[in-house]
Amino acid sequence: EAITVGDLANRMAERGGDVVKTLMKLGVMATVNQTIDADTAELVISEFGHRMKRVSESDVEDALIQHQDDPEELQKPRPPVVTVMGHVDHGKTSLLDALRTTDVVSGEAGGITQHIGAYQVELSGGDHITFLDTPGHEAFTAMRQRGANVTDIVILVVAADDGIRPQTVEAINHAKVAKAPIIVAINKCDKPGADPNRVRTQLLDHELVAEEMGGDIITVEVSALKGTNLDKLEEMILLQAELLELKANPDRRAEGAVVEAKLEKGRGSVATVLIQHGTLKVGDTFVAGAEWGRVRALIDDKGRNIKEAGPSTPVEVLGIQGTPSAGDDFAVLEDEAKCREIAEYRQRKHREASTSVAARGTLEQMFSQIKAGEIKELPIVIKADVQGSLEAIMASLDKLGTDEVKVRVLHGAVGGITESDVILANSTGGIIVGFNVRANPQARELSRSNGVDIRYYSVIYDVIDDAKQIMGGLLAPER
Ligand code: GDP
Repeated sequence: EAITVGDLANRMAERGGDVVKTLMKLGVMATVNQTIDADTAELVISEFGHRMKRVSESDVEDALIQHQDDPEELQKPRPPVVTVMGHVDHGKTSLLDALRTTDVVSGEAGGITQHIGAYQVELSGGDHITFLDTPGHEAFTAMRQRGANVTDIVILVVAADDGIRPQTVEAINHAKVAKAPIIVAINKCDKPGADPNRVRTQLLDHELVAEEMGGDIITVEVSALKGTNLDKLEEMILLQAELLELKANPDRRAEGAVVEAKLEKGRGSVATVLIQHGTLKVGDTFVAGAEWGRVRALIDDKGRNIKEAGPSTPVEVLGIQGTPSAGDDFAVLEDEAKCREIAEYRQRKHREASTSVAARGTLEQMFSQIKAGEIKELPIVIKADVQGSLEAIMASLDKLGTDEVKVRVLHGAVGGITESDVILANSTGGIIVGFNVRANPQARELSRSNGVDIRYYSVIYDVIDDAKQIMGGLLAPER
């Protein structure tokens, strides 16, 4: 608990210089940029005749989750939220574009397609589906990493002429970690070399057993280019959604997640928010991550001004004081002062976090948690130079499990360590093992800023030995 002198002055609406002088009177020499502890701050505050109000973490959380428990009878069915993932060039963007045209209301009422990060289609039967239109698992996991779990269903796009490729496997593993059900869209079925059954067979290697092969994974043969079977894909999404019994109460203040945010000329900060609970209305005051605001206008994915937006609706929100980040939480609070207070509190926390010396390692925490019996798994991402080593390491790690702790391989693949690996490890508090491979600079940077441990090896025995020690809570983290 510390605050800079400048911050303290701002919060009291006093001049920085006056606070410095008061501190000097109290025998503390500090400039406006230096931090003082909470007790000193309290003294200063009382010197100025203000009363101190400490905003604690639990206050913030309390304010945000007040209305969280909605009685069952207030819950109404809501549309599913779908993310499209898959290997590059397998047709994610094409599929999203094609699905968009299945909307029965676009074209009506002069709406013009707006790319706001997500869109909703209305099907001829009156059902709705919401698609996040930033394809790829980077966006998906980056959002999850910030605590936003918005995706109900993952559409895994696999090109029928190319089959399962490295990013397909990554996507599968990301979806598994997020516990999102997968529907496989076997794309490019119009192509001469298309072999949908080969894709189904390859899926078996990743514990995805297609219905055609006696399993429970829905696969749909589509062509994004020709628009073939899109209705069938949508039907399957709705079927899966029904099984999930997706519900939300529309009659309460809104909560959701920021999908995208930017600063635009003439419009100010604009954020696309996916509403998850309640209904957002023009005039509502809200907190979005470390920013706050009052809704000045709501614009839908067809560029139309709307008055309100309910559950599973993506909507552009105008009237934010700053620019939040994708994945930030969004919550309406009646009290504007409270919104401001929470935003300021979070900004202060961000500043403190960014100035504090190197993040404490997840490994360190993991040890104490393993020791205390709080965690039962050691999540690991493994990257290796060749398939043989990879398989040998995975097999040996698998055998290491005891009754207390097991190794859980989140993802194992041949190749260098990338940002995607770091995001995956970070989202589960896991570590990364590089066997005869290195991390690229972006991955290194991301691992540093998130405190994700990357360990490099060139001898398989060492990997196993370290894992054993970690699982015994014995090995000290490398720093
Ligand atoms: P992304 O990287 O996964 O987003 O893939 P794109 O949507 O950009 O598609 C990559 C390429 O595949 C483009 O040249 C598309 O025109 C082509 N493509 C996508 N879907 C189909 C399809 O169903 N059939 C055929 N023949 N080509 C497709």
